[in-house]
Amino acid sequence: MIQVPIIKETALTLMDKAAIDIPDDYLTGLQKAADTEEGDLSSFVLNAMLENYQAAKEDRRAMCADTGVPRWYVKMGNEAQISGGPVALEEALRGATAEATTGVPLRPNRVHPLWRTDHNNNVGLNAPEIEYSFEPDADWIDITTVHKGGLFGSDYRMLFPGDGIEGIKRFFLDCLVAFGKRGLACQPAIIGVGLGGSKDITMVLGKQAACLRTVGDRNPDPKVAELEMELKELGNSIGMGAMGFVGKSMVIDCHIECGFTHTGGMPMSVHAFCLSSRRAVARIHRDGRVEYRTDPNWFTPYMRRETIGWQSTTASLKQSV
Ligand code: SF4
Repeated sequence: MIQVPIIKETALTLMDKAAIDIPDDYLTGLQKAADTEEGDLSSFVLNAMLENYQAAKEDRRAMCADTGVPRWYVKMGNEAQISGGPVALEEALRGATAEATTGVPLRPNRVHPLWRTDHNNNVGLNAPEIEYSFEPDADWIDITTVHKGGLFGSDYRMLFPGDGIEGIKRFFLDCLVAFGKRGLACQPAIIGVGLGGSKDITMVLGKQAACLRTVGDRNPDPKVAELEMELKELGNSIGMGAMGFVGKSMVIDCHIECGFTHTGGMPMSVHAFCLSSRRAVARIHRDGRVEYRTDPNWFTPYMRRETIGWQSTTASLKQSV
């Protein structure tokens, strides 16, 4: 049985790690962009950000003054048990969010949309978001926090099957140009694309693709993987670099996630996980052991299954047909 005090303590540590320690995969991607960028201002920004991340780590202070909006992703093993159940789990995550707002500290960004009421703790109506997924043959829970910045760096369009790959590229470029020109999210960013599903699922998949996959990770479908690479290249060829200045480093990586959709449509979403791509992950085992990492490993074969059932063995997991 996983005890709630361990979940709360772990969640607090995750808030700290996410706000301060830039994940290695993103840092390496940023370093590569800095090494190849030729635009003067773009290059200046990239190097300043690399210094900034180092200073944040040494001083144990948040890497950006805008600490974004903290959100949680919980992956539960099918055999995992939590003392107090899901209600206690959610209380621990909401409590950790509130305490970290004062402790790290984080900017209290969450307000009521109409009355601008601010509880000064990043907790309120439907905040922070908590999304769930499941994993067969596991008795642990994985908790991921993402401090999502780039509030305006997302968009949606209902494409149609006839728009094809060219339509996808056109909308992708429309988004990146708008994000860059209008300062809707700080670049370079990890860009997530949701394709298919219903309108809401398209948005969810695109955001998860941006926030929950690491730089360099490719979709297991080779044709989708190829499109990810093409979009990345396309995004870096529009003449804009870091913070929309002249350059060629807008996209550190591009990830696409797909969902079966209505035969008449091809909904698409585009999301920017900004220059401060903040995520931290912990696995809490049944015996109370906690392991920290930065790869959420959210999209497992189980998550991407197409079949009705799922058959597992102790040695490996395989899809039933
Ligand atoms: S978009 Fe990201 S890097 Fe830019 S101010 Fe917001 S949180 Fe900071």
